Amino acid sequence: MNYHVLTLFPQMVLDGLHTSIIGRAEEKGLLHIEAIDIRDYAENKHMRVDDYPYGGGAGMVMQPGPVYGAYQALSDRLGKRPRVIYLTPQGQVFSQSLAEEYAMEEDLVFLCGHYEGIDERVLELIVTDYVSIGDYVLTGGELPAMVMIDCISRLVPGVLSNDVSAEFETFHDSLLEYPQYTRPEVFMEKRVPEVLLSGHHGNVDKWRREQSVIRTAKFRPDLLPFADLSEKEKELLKT
Ligand code: SAM
Repeated sequence: MNYHVLTLFPQMVLDGLHTSIIGRAEEKGLLHIEAIDIRDYAENKHMRVDDYPYGGGAGMVMQPGPVYGAYQALSDRLGKRPRVIYLTPQGQVFSQSLAEEYAMEEDLVFLCGHYEGIDERVLELIVTDYVSIGDYVLTGGELPAMVMIDCISRLVPGVLSNDVSAEFETFHDSLLEYPQYTRPEVFMEKRVPEVLLSGHHGNVDKWRREQSVIRTAKFRPDLLPFADLSEKEKELLKT
Protein backbone atom coordinates (compact mmCIF):
# COMPACT_ATOMS: atom_id res chain seq x y z
CA MET A 1 0.00 0.00 0.00
CA ASN A 2 1.38 3.40 -1.00
CA TYR A 3 0.02 6.55 0.64
CA HIS A 4 0.74 9.95 -0.90
CA VAL A 5 -0.26 12.87 1.31
CA LEU A 6 -0.53 16.30 -0.35
CA THR A 7 -0.09 18.82 2.46
CA LEU A 8 1.34 22.17 3.52
CA PHE A 9 2.74 20.49 6.66
CA PRO A 10 4.60 17.35 5.55
CA GLN A 11 6.59 16.99 8.76
CA MET A 12 3.42 16.74 10.81
CA VAL A 13 2.30 13.72 8.80
CA LEU A 14 5.70 12.01 8.77
CA ASP A 15 6.38 12.59 12.49
CA GLY A 16 2.95 11.27 13.40
CA LEU A 17 3.11 8.06 11.43
CA HIS A 18 6.70 6.84 11.66
CA THR A 19 6.23 5.20 15.07
CA SER A 20 4.83 2.03 16.62
CA ILE A 21 2.89 -0.46 14.45
CA ILE A 22 2.65 1.77 11.36
CA GLY A 23 6.33 2.72 11.56
CA ARG A 24 7.36 -0.95 11.82
CA ALA A 25 5.11 -1.89 8.89
CA GLU A 26 6.86 0.77 6.82
CA GLU A 27 10.28 -0.57 7.81
CA LYS A 28 9.13 -4.04 6.70
CA GLY A 29 8.09 -2.58 3.33
CA LEU A 30 4.38 -3.36 3.81
CA LEU A 31 3.49 0.32 3.54
CA HIS A 32 5.05 3.40 2.07
CA ILE A 33 4.03 6.86 3.25
CA GLU A 34 5.20 9.97 1.43
CA ALA A 35 4.27 13.53 2.24
CA ILE A 36 4.35 15.92 -0.71
CA ASP A 37 4.75 19.60 0.14
CA ILE A 38 2.19 21.60 -1.85
CA ARG A 39 4.31 24.71 -1.23
CA ASP A 40 7.00 23.24 -3.52
CA TYR A 41 4.53 23.94 -6.34
CA ALA A 42 3.91 27.59 -5.41
CA GLU A 43 3.69 29.86 -8.44
CA ASN A 44 5.34 33.00 -7.05
CA LYS A 45 8.70 33.91 -5.60
CA HIS A 46 7.31 34.35 -2.07
CA MET A 47 6.12 30.72 -2.11
CA ARG A 48 2.59 31.81 -1.19
CA VAL A 49 -0.09 29.21 -1.76
CA ASP A 50 -3.18 30.93 -0.30
CA ASP A 51 -5.13 34.09 -1.04
CA TYR A 52 -8.23 36.02 0.00
CA PRO A 53 -11.61 34.53 -0.94
CA TYR A 54 -13.43 36.05 -3.90
CA GLY A 55 -16.64 37.65 -2.66
CA GLY A 56 -15.06 38.53 0.69
CA GLY A 57 -15.37 36.78 4.02
CA ALA A 58 -13.03 35.60 6.74
CA GLY A 59 -9.86 33.56 6.30
CA MET A 60 -7.70 32.46 3.39
CA VAL A 61 -8.25 29.89 0.66
CA MET A 62 -5.62 27.55 -0.79
CA GLN A 63 -5.02 28.41 -4.46
CA PRO A 64 -5.77 25.82 -7.14
CA GLY A 65 -2.44 26.04 -9.07
CA PRO A 66 -0.05 24.58 -6.46
CA VAL A 67 -2.49 21.79 -5.53
CA TYR A 68 -2.93 20.86 -9.18
CA GLY A 69 0.85 21.04 -9.77
CA ALA A 70 1.53 18.67 -6.87
CA TYR A 71 -1.14 16.25 -8.07
CA GLN A 72 0.02 16.40 -11.72
CA ALA A 73 3.66 15.66 -10.80
CA LEU A 74 2.52 12.70 -8.68
CA SER A 75 0.22 11.18 -11.29
CA ASP A 76 2.93 11.60 -13.96
CA ARG A 77 5.38 9.78 -11.69
CA LEU A 78 2.89 6.98 -10.94
CA GLY A 79 1.80 6.77 -14.59
CA LYS A 80 -1.88 6.74 -13.57
CA ARG A 81 -4.63 8.83 -12.01
CA PRO A 82 -4.95 7.39 -8.49
CA ARG A 83 -7.92 7.75 -6.18
CA VAL A 84 -7.74 11.18 -4.50
CA ILE A 85 -9.40 11.61 -1.12
CA TYR A 86 -10.10 15.19 -0.06
CA LEU A 87 -10.38 15.42 3.72
CA THR A 88 -13.29 17.71 4.44
CA PRO A 89 -15.97 18.05 7.14
CA GLN A 90 -18.45 18.15 4.23
CA GLY A 91 -17.62 14.60 3.06
CA GLN A 92 -18.98 11.12 3.67
CA VAL A 93 -18.17 10.13 7.27
CA PHE A 94 -15.26 7.66 7.47
CA SER A 95 -16.12 4.19 8.74
CA GLN A 96 -14.64 0.72 9.15
CA SER A 97 -16.39 -0.45 5.99
CA LEU A 98 -14.90 2.45 4.00
CA ALA A 99 -11.48 1.53 5.43
CA GLU A 100 -11.98 -2.04 4.19
CA GLU A 101 -12.71 -0.70 0.71
CA TYR A 102 -9.62 1.57 0.69
CA ALA A 103 -7.37 -1.24 1.96
CA MET A 104 -7.84 -2.97 -1.42
CA GLU A 105 -6.16 -0.08 -3.31
CA GLU A 106 -2.49 0.02 -4.31
CA ASP A 107 -2.13 3.83 -4.17
CA LEU A 108 -4.17 6.36 -2.21
CA VAL A 109 -3.74 10.12 -2.37
CA PHE A 110 -4.87 12.25 0.58
CA LEU A 111 -5.40 15.95 -0.07
CA CYS A 112 -5.23 18.01 3.12
CA GLY A 113 -6.87 21.42 3.22
CA HIS A 114 -5.97 24.21 5.60
CA TYR A 115 -7.34 27.67 6.45
CA GLU A 116 -10.84 28.00 4.93
CA GLY A 117 -10.23 25.12 2.52
CA ILE A 118 -9.20 24.75 -1.13
CA ASP A 119 -10.40 26.53 -4.30
CA GLU A 120 -13.38 24.51 -5.57
CA ARG A 121 -12.15 24.29 -9.17
CA VAL A 122 -9.14 22.12 -8.44
CA LEU A 123 -11.28 19.87 -6.25
CA GLU A 124 -13.65 19.36 -9.19
CA LEU A 125 -10.68 18.44 -11.40
CA ILE A 126 -8.82 15.92 -9.24
CA VAL A 127 -10.85 14.68 -6.25
CA THR A 128 -12.59 11.30 -6.47
CA ASP A 129 -13.71 10.93 -2.81
CA TYR A 130 -14.80 13.49 -0.20
CA VAL A 131 -14.30 12.11 3.31
CA SER A 132 -14.86 13.53 6.80
CA ILE A 133 -13.68 11.96 10.05
CA GLY A 134 -16.67 13.29 11.98
CA ASP A 135 -19.09 16.14 12.42
CA TYR A 136 -16.69 18.71 13.82
CA VAL A 137 -14.26 21.16 12.21
CA LEU A 138 -10.47 20.88 12.56
CA THR A 139 -7.76 23.33 11.46
CA GLY A 140 -6.42 21.06 8.73
CA GLY A 141 -6.72 17.75 6.91
CA GLU A 142 -3.46 16.31 8.25
CA LEU A 143 -4.89 14.70 11.41
CA PRO A 144 -7.84 13.23 9.46
CA ALA A 145 -5.41 11.81 6.86
CA MET A 146 -3.34 10.26 9.66
CA VAL A 147 -6.45 8.79 11.28
CA MET A 148 -7.46 7.20 7.98
CA ILE A 149 -3.95 5.91 7.20
CA ASP A 150 -3.70 4.33 10.65
CA CYS A 151 -7.08 2.65 10.32
CA ILE A 152 -6.59 1.41 6.72
CA SER A 153 -3.07 0.15 7.46
CA ARG A 154 -4.29 -2.21 10.19
CA LEU A 155 -6.20 -4.02 7.45
CA VAL A 156 -3.18 -4.47 5.17
CA PRO A 157 -2.03 -8.11 5.43
CA GLY A 158 1.02 -8.50 7.69
CA VAL A 159 0.71 -5.13 9.46
CA LEU A 160 -0.81 -6.60 12.62
CA SER A 161 1.13 -9.49 14.12
CA ASN A 162 -0.27 -12.98 13.46
CA ASP A 163 -1.96 -13.36 16.81
CA VAL A 164 -3.76 -10.00 16.55
CA SER A 165 -6.62 -9.88 14.16
CA ALA A 166 -8.72 -6.95 13.02
CA GLU A 167 -11.44 -9.41 12.10
CA PHE A 168 -13.24 -9.68 15.44
CA GLU A 169 -12.96 -6.13 16.62
CA THR A 170 -15.44 -3.41 17.34
CA PHE A 171 -17.72 -2.67 14.35
CA HIS A 172 -17.17 -6.13 12.91
CA ASP A 173 -20.71 -7.54 12.66
CA SER A 174 -21.99 -4.15 13.89
CA LEU A 175 -21.15 -5.04 17.49
CA LEU A 176 -18.69 -3.45 19.92
CA GLU A 177 -15.89 -5.63 21.23
CA TYR A 178 -16.20 -7.38 24.61
CA PRO A 179 -14.23 -5.97 27.60
CA GLN A 180 -10.55 -6.96 27.82
CA TYR A 181 -8.51 -7.89 30.94
CA THR A 182 -4.86 -8.66 31.64
CA ARG A 183 -2.72 -9.36 34.72
CA PRO A 184 -3.08 -8.96 37.69
CA GLU A 185 -6.09 -11.13 38.51
CA VAL A 186 -7.18 -8.68 41.21
CA PHE A 187 -6.79 -4.92 40.84
CA MET A 188 -8.02 -2.64 43.63
CA GLU A 189 -10.33 -5.43 44.83
CA LYS A 190 -11.82 -5.89 41.36
CA ARG A 191 -11.48 -9.45 40.05
CA VAL A 192 -11.13 -10.57 36.45
CA PRO A 193 -14.38 -12.38 35.47
CA GLU A 194 -14.02 -16.02 36.58
CA VAL A 195 -14.90 -17.46 33.16
CA LEU A 196 -11.76 -15.93 31.62
CA LEU A 197 -9.61 -17.91 34.06
CA SER A 198 -11.46 -21.18 33.45
CA GLY A 199 -9.53 -22.25 30.36
CA HIS A 200 -12.86 -23.35 28.82
CA HIS A 201 -12.75 -21.79 25.33
CA GLY A 202 -16.41 -22.49 24.57
CA ASN A 203 -17.57 -20.68 27.70
CA VAL A 204 -15.13 -17.81 27.08
CA ASP A 205 -16.48 -17.32 23.53
CA LYS A 206 -20.07 -17.44 24.80
CA TRP A 207 -19.34 -14.90 27.53
CA ARG A 208 -17.55 -12.58 25.10
CA ARG A 209 -20.38 -12.67 22.58
CA GLU A 210 -22.90 -11.91 25.33
CA GLN A 211 -20.78 -9.02 26.60
CA SER A 212 -20.50 -7.63 23.05
CA VAL A 213 -24.26 -7.59 22.71
CA ILE A 214 -24.83 -6.04 26.16
CA ARG A 215 -22.11 -3.43 25.58
CA THR A 216 -23.47 -2.46 22.17
CA ALA A 217 -26.95 -2.06 23.65
CA LYS A 218 -25.50 0.16 26.38
CA PHE A 219 -23.10 2.38 24.39
CA ARG A 220 -24.22 2.19 20.75
CA PRO A 221 -27.84 1.02 20.51
CA ASP A 222 -27.98 2.61 17.04
CA LEU A 223 -25.78 -0.26 15.75
CA LEU A 224 -28.05 -3.08 16.97
CA PRO A 225 -30.50 -3.07 14.02
CA PHE A 226 -27.53 -3.97 11.75
CA ALA A 227 -26.22 -6.78 14.00
CA ASP A 228 -27.06 -10.40 13.35
CA LEU A 229 -28.60 -11.35 16.72
CA SER A 230 -30.02 -14.73 17.70
CA GLU A 231 -33.52 -14.98 19.17
CA LYS A 232 -31.91 -15.70 22.55
CA GLU A 233 -29.82 -12.54 22.30
CA LYS A 234 -32.85 -10.47 21.40
CA GLU A 235 -34.59 -11.88 24.48
CA LEU A 236 -31.54 -11.06 26.61
CA LEU A 237 -31.80 -7.41 25.55
CA LYS A 238 -35.42 -7.22 26.64
CA THR A 239 -34.48 -8.13 30.24
N1 SAM B 1 -14.43 26.18 5.67
C1 SAM B 1 -14.54 24.76 5.69
C2 SAM B 1 -16.01 24.33 5.88
O1 SAM B 1 -16.73 25.05 6.56
O2 SAM B 1 -16.38 23.27 5.37
C3 SAM B 1 -13.70 24.15 6.81
C4 SAM B 1 -12.24 24.28 6.57
S1 SAM B 1 -11.27 23.56 7.84
C5 SAM B 1 -11.06 24.91 8.95
C6 SAM B 1 -9.71 23.39 7.09
C7 SAM B 1 -9.41 22.02 6.53
O3 SAM B 1 -9.41 21.09 7.59
C8 SAM B 1 -10.38 21.47 5.53
O4 SAM B 1 -10.11 21.91 4.23
C9 SAM B 1 -10.18 19.98 5.67
O5 SAM B 1 -9.11 19.52 4.85
C10 SAM B 1 -9.79 19.82 7.13
N2 SAM B 1 -10.87 19.32 8.01
C11 SAM B 1 -11.47 20.02 9.01
N3 SAM B 1 -12.37 19.28 9.64
C12 SAM B 1 -12.36 18.06 9.07
C13 SAM B 1 -13.08 16.85 9.29
N4 SAM B 1 -14.01 16.74 10.23
N5 SAM B 1 -12.80 15.80 8.50
C14 SAM B 1 -11.87 15.88 7.53
N6 SAM B 1 -11.15 17.00 7.27
C15 SAM B 1 -11.39 18.08 8.02
